[in-house]
Amino acid sequence: MEIYRGVPAFSGIAIGKILYYHRGEYQIREYLIYNVKREQDSFREAVAQVQHDLEELYDVYRVTDTSGAQVFQRQVRMLQKGSFQRAVESMIATEKVNAAYAIMTTRDELSNTFRNLEEPIIRDRIADVRDISDRLIRLLGGTGKKISLGENPVILAAETLSPGEIMEMEKDKILAVVTTQGSNFSHTSIVTKNMEVPSIVEVKASMEWDGREAIVDGYEGVIYLDPDEEMLKEYRERQNADREEKEELLKLRDQEDCTADGKKICLYANIGNLDDLDSVLYYGATGIGLLRSEFQYLGRENYPRENELFRAYKKVAQTMGDRLVIIRTVDLGADKQAEYMNIPQEDNPIMGNRGIRLCLDRQKMFKAQLRAIYRASPYGNLAIMYPMITSVEEVEEIEKIVSEVMHGLDEKGIPYKNIKTGIMIETPAAVMLSSELAEHSDFLSIGTNDLTQYTLAMDRQNPVLRKKYNDHHPAVLKMIQMVIEAGHAKRCRVCICGELAADESLTEQFLRMGVDALSVVPACILPVRKALRKSDLSTERNRKYGEEQSRPDTM
Ligand code: PEP
Ligand code: MG
Repeated sequence: MEIYRGVPAFSGIAIGKILYYHRGEYQIREYLIYNVKREQDSFREAVAQVQHDLEELYDVYRVTDTSGAQVFQRQVRMLQKGSFQRAVESMIATEKVNAAYAIMTTRDELSNTFRNLEEPIIRDRIADVRDISDRLIRLLGGTGKKISLGENPVILAAETLSPGEIMEMEKDKILAVVTTQGSNFSHTSIVTKNMEVPSIVEVKASMEWDGREAIVDGYEGVIYLDPDEEMLKEYRERQNADREEKEELLKLRDQEDCTADGKKICLYANIGNLDDLDSVLYYGATGIGLLRSEFQYLGRENYPRENELFRAYKKVAQTMGDRLVIIRTVDLGADKQAEYMNIPQEDNPIMGNRGIRLCLDRQKMFKAQLRAIYRASPYGNLAIMYPMITSVEEVEEIEKIVSEVMHGLDEKGIPYKNIKTGIMIETPAAVMLSSELAEHSDFLSIGTNDLTQYTLAMDRQNPVLRKKYNDHHPAVLKMIQMVIEAGHAKRCRVCICGELAADESLTEQFLRMGVDALSVVPACILPVRKALRKSDLSTERNRKYGEEQSRPDTM
């Protein structure tokens, strides 16, 4: 048994087999071919090209890096022997499948056969088969849209995963996620939280792990590779205890979000896509406090069309009925990009053209989303909010665009509701202007993830800063207090929708500050509900926040 430690990103325990994910490799689509000879010929051409490339690489490296060059030489010999090619060609002929798929399957069968042999020479051979296969698949294309992880659920290990990549995978095939890079505040971690899978970041995961049995302890951030019987027994018991604890929490599903002394709070859910709707209903959230709409723009070839967005928003609105759904307009840029967006390279994308800035630059994209939201508004209880605001001028520009959109809908006789609008407070500038911003909005929503990184001037994803990154920093807590006071003074309700909202150790403190709503990943609804139902706010200080200003009952 081997033990590896990392940083916990989402709690839970998983036991299963590891699949080591290589970027791009799992996007191979299977399809039937009608001309076997043509497919085999393209495969042979690809083999000849790869052999040529490897020989060239050998020539380049044989003087400067002899051991690296030997690898290329070994791979050329492997191709010359021809057994791998024969297996692939035979599969193309017998199963009438495309060459890329036949290569992938042959490679996986070979790796599975030899996976348990420890000899270094065998491990080298498996790595060679993988390298050669990657080169061949790249030449042959054959990539598809959904990333298939195979038939059985796996523990996904990878060097790094982007939010788009993980969203393209089948959710029910992922038991846990373990990555070498990434941070527990990254958007990839937010996606794994939404999926409710235990996850660990900053682990030295390696290709060698592929196919091995493991236990992932998302509470402690520990991975046990090839666990012994005793460890398996202990963790199976812990998994059962976890299950029992979850069942106990489920009793709170229909309970009110109310403190012990009777103050009502709205407890909303944060979601990234329509798949998460089921868990919002399952855990009994009051509504959706943050729909991160940008995830519909990731992991695809082109911008979603207005109608596609409209259908998605209509579905959310109808599913949630009277319950509030706050759609945040796209917060693209920084770590949320797709190739088709052609966002120019930036030295510092976290400080770059992201969120509302990008939308105001790309008004065609922005207007399509606004139209889709307004068109969907009659089907439920939608609201809209804007990310990364830093000035009143930005809000005024948005207001102008929104009135153009409404005017366009009026002209076409398309019905829409006058929905509530909110502003995300996630930059120190927005905190300082929260009183002025509140005049332009029905509610404020504090995004503590970005607010913390911009207040501390520390990249929320930088692993080097992890120990210094204090998300309970007094400056951030003071800012939250300031925003709540400024919002309330203008009769605006104030929500916290960053990850901090799910931190049960702060629930009572937030309630004492006077926050009206908390929005958390669906899996955290019940633990936070439990924490807030235990809180008793009957003190002098709190009465002040509860009674000084009357505000609307909902956002
Ligand atoms: C935040 O910054 O707290 C927030 C909710 O937005 P995101 O995490 O999507 O940047
Ligand atoms: Mg943010």
